[in-house]
Amino acid sequence: MIMVKTATDLAAMRRAGQAAAQALQMVVAAVRPGATTAQLDRIAEARIRELGGEPSFLGYRGFPASICTSVNDEVVHGIPGPRRLVEGEIISLDLGVVLDGFHGDLAVTVPVGRVSPAVARLLRVTAEALEIGIRAIRPEGRLGDVGAAIQRYVEQHGFSVVREFAGHGIGRKLHEDPQIPNFGSPGNGVVLRRGMTLAIEPMVNMGTSEVVMEADGWTVRTRDHKPSAHFEHTVAVGDDGPIVLTRLSPDESV
Ligand code: MG
Repeated sequence: MIMVKTATDLAAMRRAGQAAAQALQMVVAAVRPGATTAQLDRIAEARIRELGGEPSFLGYRGFPASICTSVNDEVVHGIPGPRRLVEGEIISLDLGVVLDGFHGDLAVTVPVGRVSPAVARLLRVTAEALEIGIRAIRPEGRLGDVGAAIQRYVEQHGFSVVREFAGHGIGRKLHEDPQIPNFGSPGNGVVLRRGMTLAIEPMVNMGTSEVVMEADGWTVRTRDHKPSAHFEHTVAVGDDGPIVLTRLSPDESV
């Protein structure tokens, strides 16, 4: 069942989203060669709590940290630890905050120092795919419009979308209905209604779309070990279109 949020709910979700965005901003600022992923996790948890929230991911189905840190060929759900970042790598940072009973969830992939032009292009295309997916959201539109827009843009640029993992509804629970695949066909799927809140999160691989699960039961990696990028926003279906709840901006509309 897809939960439709009231104006009061949406105001709370915006507070959660803004806290998540502020915390992630601090984590991004700490990414540099030599930093460990555990250090980034500690920065995230401290900032989330300072902002009055709690980390959505800590303890979620047993996840042991406050953020997911996925480096290079890791797609999503990497576990922070002693790994030290190296110049030329990329790291996907996924962060969720629960505040006043509602979740905000966002992710970004950033370079560690300088990266190759091909990797920089992967990051640009994935970030843009997220924006294009968001712009496909409108009341009475279809979920397939969103997935199709993301898939078309990514594949036009010679990259692939991950099929096994998807975006999701979000609200009082971190993961609510519906599932939001990063592929699809226009005019198909769930009808979008005002007040729905959706985590849109393209996961884009430079090579094959195929992924494998690591032995830790969390870390998802590309099968061909080529790099992968991940960008995410929490978005409400507004009267006139999408409202990005996790974008740090005085103007919340896109
Ligand atoms: Mg998510």
